[in-house]
Amino acid sequence: MLVVGNWKMNTSQAEAVALAAGVARGVAEADTDVGVGVCPPFVWLEAVRERTEGSPVQVGAQNVSSEESGAYTGEVSAAMLSDLGCTYAIVGHSERRALYGETDAVVATKTSRALSHGLTPIVCVGETLDERRADQVEAVVTGQLSGSLAEADDASRIVVAYEPVWAIGTGETATPEQARDTHAIIRRWLTDRFGASGAAVEILYGGSVKPGNADDLFRQPDVDGGLVGGASLDAEGFVEIVRAAARARE
Ligand code: PEP
Repeated sequence: MLVVGNWKMNTSQAEAVALAAGVARGVAEADTDVGVGVCPPFVWLEAVRERTEGSPVQVGAQNVSSEESGAYTGEVSAAMLSDLGCTYAIVGHSERRALYGETDAVVATKTSRALSHGLTPIVCVGETLDERRADQVEAVVTGQLSGSLAEADDASRIVVAYEPVWAIGTGETATPEQARDTHAIIRRWLTDRFGASGAAVEILYGGSVKPGNADDLFRQPDVDGGLVGGASLDAEGFVEIVRAAARARE
């Protein structure tokens, strides 16, 4: 099980360090083998990494450049993130796809860059509400997987996050059955494509995960944890979600 917080473009430096300290303390007290990551804004990565050093909490980036290095103003490379001590990089988040025009091909290159610098990419896929209503969940999600993982030949260092767009930041959550059904589709696709390494990929659910709904979601087969946005900005609530992940596999 793995629970990762995506802080998005939130927190001052002082808030980020305090949040990291609260998460590190709470996760240490919870004493679980659930993997835990936090993804602060780029500019607080170093401060958060220092604050979580020696704790079970890993640090990740919310994005990574598709380019290796060079004249790409404003970009942050996988090598830089690796140098900083990051473990994870989120790629293909629906906000990046919708607001910054990231295509599956770009996500595929970002995934390769992350892998080649020792980062674990958290590759996000998910349908919009219109696509769900049109019964296109399977086609959309498997299409995104095949485009976003086109350059990978092994899945052993990849994490996939199923994040229905209509559930992100909206307070709406997929029902446990909707999550279960889509995670089963993703598992089947990963196993067909990558064999044993695909069968072992951690598939996270994301979309308004909160302490109150995490238990039901995490108890579903193939829901191997969560990618948490809004609720990751509160240390106590986030640690509660980590505890729910631990309970789910007891
Ligand atoms: C996210 O942005 O990855 C996310 C799941 O956000 P929220 O939990 O706020 O819906």
